[in-house]
Amino acid sequence: MLTNAPKGTKDILPSQAHKWQYVEKKFGEICAKYGFSEIRTPVFEHTELFARSVGDTSDIVQKQMYTFQDYAGRSITLRPEGTAGVARAFIEHKMYAETLPVKLRYGISCFRYEKPQSGRLRAFHQFGAEVFGADSMIADAEVIALADDFLRSLGVTDTELRVNSIGCPNCRDGYRHALKAFLGSKRDELCDTCKIRYEKNPLRILDCKSPRCAELTVGAPRMLDHLCDECETAFADLTANLDASGIAYTVDPGIVRGLDYYTKTAFEFVTHRVGAQDTVCGGGRYDHLTEELGGPSIPGVGFGLGIERLLLLMDNCGAEIPAPPATDAFVAFIGQEAKAEALRLLRSLRAMGLSVETDALGRSIKNQFKYAARLGARFTVIIGGEELRSGMATVKDMETGEQRGVEFENVGAALRG
Ligand code: ATP
Ligand code: MG
Repeated sequence: MLTNAPKGTKDILPSQAHKWQYVEKKFGEICAKYGFSEIRTPVFEHTELFARSVGDTSDIVQKQMYTFQDYAGRSITLRPEGTAGVARAFIEHKMYAETLPVKLRYGISCFRYEKPQSGRLRAFHQFGAEVFGADSMIADAEVIALADDFLRSLGVTDTELRVNSIGCPNCRDGYRHALKAFLGSKRDELCDTCKIRYEKNPLRILDCKSPRCAELTVGAPRMLDHLCDECETAFADLTANLDASGIAYTVDPGIVRGLDYYTKTAFEFVTHRVGAQDTVCGGGRYDHLTEELGGPSIPGVGFGLGIERLLLLMDNCGAEIPAPPATDAFVAFIGQEAKAEALRLLRSLRAMGLSVETDALGRSIKNQFKYAARLGARFTVIIGGEELRSGMATVKDMETGEQRGVEFENVGAALRG
């Protein structure tokens, strides 16, 4: 018990961490190309923030949040997603008074109480990007282009972009009625969750993972056929912008997203590789979120991209991830006097930017060589009595086995050469 991590959590071991560093670096670089700056918000927020933004009737708020009372009796929740905290920070720091749009990106851990499976954890990670203050569909297309570029840059080739419009409060009511009318006679056959959704938020039924509910919604009315003029123009604009940017997509009326705050644009990057968890990235527009949170009315659009699912996908596609850099040199020493020289040398080599290691277990010289080989060091620098007398370290090329004497002060240059 004590030595088992809680269900749904995963350690990222050193053998995997370089993959994380790689995708984190790539995400930062691509976001910079699009003009996004990093924001870091706290791991926990007031519970009310998520209830308001993600939505009281959403699965997340209903049954997935890690909520607790702190010692002062406040209700606190570990963030289940990124947008709410970023929107809160945007309002709190009056970023709306800055030059718009404000473009923010982040890499965060998220927490949801879910049934753990491959690509579905309780503590997981997301990259996200949000644009505040732009109502043009250029922002939506840019955000989608960013996600698309990111996936491509990592060698993920088999995702498909699906886009939809989920309308706005003006047209969604009419659609909700049409959908309820369609599902009315099939209501008893819906899963228990969807029976509740039918009353509270029928659009969500379209997002249900149960195969039976999916069957029941075949032939259901489409939000796209119920859009008001403004939403219809916006959707036409979005697809025109995607076309102009050379981004392939399919229109999928079934994309409704699980969070309450979305309006107009909804999109997902899906794959068939990760099994049931086929959405690697999901996002959309949220024009009423900041207002809902008590701030000024500022439109927004963004996405969240699951890092665990991304890495699974990269594994499955055989995407290449550069190996972490090898150790430049191992410094082996024999005896106390040589040890002092070795420690001096290690410090000066590191100051030159080289990655160097030594033995901290009192190994014999033979075992130091073995250890150097196991570390994958490109050179071994040997310091013993002979080297101390001559003032020359022995530098061994681990690949060719070639050895030569090098003055202590020139070892760094020799390793570089
Ligand atoms: P799903 O439909 O798979 O439950 P979602 O609609 O709940 O996903 P979002 O809230 O939109 O997902 O989160 C964005 C992305 O975060 C998802 O596309 C996915 O890649 C990732 N994600 C969501 N929940 C989890 C989880 N429990 N474990 C790992 N990744 C997750
Ligand atoms: Mg979910």
